Amino acid sequence: MQISLTSGLTQSPEGQELESILRSCVHCGLCNPACPTYNLLGNELDGPRGRIYQIKNLFEGKAVTHETQRHLDRCLTCRACETACPSGVHYAKLLELGRVEIAKQVKRSYLQRSIRKALCWIIPSTQRFGFLLTLARGFRPLIPFSTLKRHIPIAKAAGVWPESRHARRVLIIAGCVQPTLEPGIDSALARVLDQHGISASAFYSGCCGAVSHHLSAIDQTTTRIKAAIDALWPEIEAGIEAIIITASGCGAMLQDYADLMKHEPDYADKAAKVSALYRDPVQLIEQLTLNKVGQGRRVAFHAPCTLVNALKLEGRVETVLKQAGFEVLPGMQSSQCCGSAGTYSLLQPTLARQLRDRKLDQLQQPQPELIATANIGCLVHLNTASEIPVVHWLSLLEAK
Ligand code: SF4
Ligand code: SF4
Repeated sequence: MQISLTSGLTQSPEGQELESILRSCVHCGLCNPACPTYNLLGNELDGPRGRIYQIKNLFEGKAVTHETQRHLDRCLTCRACETACPSGVHYAKLLELGRVEIAKQVKRSYLQRSIRKALCWIIPSTQRFGFLLTLARGFRPLIPFSTLKRHIPIAKAAGVWPESRHARRVLIIAGCVQPTLEPGIDSALARVLDQHGISASAFYSGCCGAVSHHLSAIDQTTTRIKAAIDALWPEIEAGIEAIIITASGCGAMLQDYADLMKHEPDYADKAAKVSALYRDPVQLIEQLTLNKVGQGRRVAFHAPCTLVNALKLEGRVETVLKQAGFEVLPGMQSSQCCGSAGTYSLLQPTLARQLRDRKLDQLQQPQPELIATANIGCLVHLNTASEIPVVHWLSLLEAK
């Protein structure tokens, strides 16, 4: 691909990275069939190849408009295109750079800016999010429509956390919204690990930065990552074995710390250490011999995009569930996002609903007893319309 970036960019490390990613795309379009928004909207500009072309134009100084921004906003960052691409194009990085740049060139409306600011202020704060959800729960009985009610999840129990008693020790990072929405997931993992000789400590370091990253709020993302690293560092120096987070979306963010902080001299090495210590729960649990708790129950597993395309752990949870005695139903298309995608379901509600309904049709079709997933966002989003309970797979590993 012929590329002529604007002169200010060509010598910068960011410009060189950008150029190298753009050059790796041969414009073959093999990624388009994997793209949920391309499949839904049928428009080249709402597929990965078209978006790459628009980002190239943007950095070459060609005119971009609100329409260009709309096509980039509609991307779920699901990275199915990266998995499908035979040339290894690092699309997510390109999109990240493109969204930041277009925000400088195309001013959003006052309403859009206010909504984005509000999301950045509320969601990463467990206190603010918890307060608002508790308030909403108070009004829940007064809401006349059950479809609306389902958008306000009911309060759940936190579950018992085992005493720390083993030499092997890991941290489970609580994250921001999960302790309010589904406080029992982390303690369920802690109990399973405890039964197998690993003590897990709950760790509250605030939001990992994924929410502001989704919203292209770069300064806030960097601040949050630094705060998380500072909070984790004493534990790392004390010799923690692994850093775990039970939401695969946040896990993908921790895995990216090394890349996101590589130009920050005081944090680059520490960020690389955090990324190296990060493990998805399945990477620990697949090493254990689990009890056969499944009793043949039929489960449809929704593999989050972050688990498949970012963490590259496709099929691993399904294997663990089978080993634990569940019947895991085949035929779920992991490449098609459920529409949750960070703040996407809030900012692009129409597309998110369409993607959710397509996904639920597929998950519910074989009539499972349960739908399991590995990310809090997918769990809550699917539960807003599912006729079958959607749970985190970790909460299935104990005998009922
Ligand atoms: S991103 Fe990959 S699959 Fe898509 S057009 Fe470029 S080279 Fe082809
Ligand atoms: S990240 Fe997902 S939605 Fe965005 S272009 Fe790639 S496949 Fe399409």
